[in-house]
Amino acid sequence: MPQVHICEVGPRDGLQNAKHLMPTEAKKGWISALAAAGLREIEVGSFVPPKLIPAMADTAQIVAFARSLPGVKVVALAPNLKGFQRALEAGAHKVTFPVSASRLHSESNVRMTPEEMVEEVRRCAAHPHPGVEIEGAVSTAFGCTMQGTVPEDDVVRIAAALAEFCDCVALADTVGYANPAQIRRVFRKVKSEIGEKLEAAHLHNTRGLGLANALAAYEEGVRHFDSSMGGLGGCPFAPGASGNVITEDLVFMFESMGVDTGIDLQKLFAARGILVNGIPEEPIYGHTPVAGLPKGFRQQV
Ligand SMILES: [Zn+2]
Repeated sequence: MPQVHICEVGPRDGLQNAKHLMPTEAKKGWISALAAAGLREIEVGSFVPPKLIPAMADTAQIVAFARSLPGVKVVALAPNLKGFQRALEAGAHKVTFPVSASRLHSESNVRMTPEEMVEEVRRCAAHPHPGVEIEGAVSTAFGCTMQGTVPEDDVVRIAAALAEFCDCVALADTVGYANPAQIRRVFRKVKSEIGEKLEAAHLHNTRGLGLANALAAYEEGVRHFDSSMGGLGGCPFAPGASGNVITEDLVFMFESMGVDTGIDLQKLFAARGILVNGIPEEPIYGHTPVAGLPKGFRQQV
């Protein structure tokens, strides 16, 4: 039994921020390889208007395909009720709603205050969704490129509001501003308010602290992590920086610590090869796949 649960968000967070488009068939091949490596939760796309984000135009098709992979929980992102309805029609098992804790980011991005966005998610949660899990993700929870500092009390308040009607809550370091001390402090504060409803850490590796932050969250009791193969997608605000915390390195960190992820590293490296073939122009990152596994290394599986 895996001791930590890793949700691969590359097909959503990575491709949404990539400069190049990955063809639908290539996405399917990559997602199959991720599932074959042991990833049991994959965020496969986002139900946003296709005109705004062409990379996500095939999300319904990708959700339908991913549902055919045995044992995979298919996750999709939705920003509003319309997106949620499309996610339900497509058959997503879990839908994530981002709510920005940064007032400035929220107002300029979705033209709603964080409080208004919480109410939008509340309306979605009230809409019938039998068997579908709802996650409220507090984004820019550790800082924002527009606003700078995001008050921790704002994060706690939004997480607590989401916990009233969401199945689980995640904290996201959307722009890679967090440090390990901050991660420990904010996760602890939110957990003391909402307990076990606080589930996942969604971390970016923009400044190279992705793994350190993941470890800090792990030490605070977090057992669900989002990550992206090859740190795909980069960061529009920091040229040359990787995107999400890198799945390959995160799996290696946990496995080498003796923490079972349920993910086979050799098969994960094979999936990386399929990713590269599917979107060859896009830079990808990661130390473990380049250096290889240490001599004598054994997986927990
Ligand atoms: Zn992200």
